[in-house]
Amino acid sequence: MAKCFLRKEAARVAKQPSFQQLEASLLYCPRCRQAMPVRKKLLLILPEGNKFEYLCTACSSTCGDKIESDDQKPRILM
Ligand SMILES: [Zn+2]
Repeated sequence: MAKCFLRKEAARVAKQPSFQQLEASLLYCPRCRQAMPVRKKLLLILPEGNKFEYLCTACSSTCGDKIESDDQKPRILM
């Protein structure tokens, strides 16, 4: 019952456009076996951008990662 509610709630929140503008999003968590809210963690700074990891807020499993190009800072740090 509780799991069912959570899943419905997650789907409802994901459909809200305002929620999608936030960095936090729902990703499938392999451990929780459902889409979970994730938090973004800077993992590596690469020449092509910053690599972020998305961690499940419930169990801290890695749900995904992404490289964001750092266009807003054209300055090159040596
Ligand atoms: Zn999880």
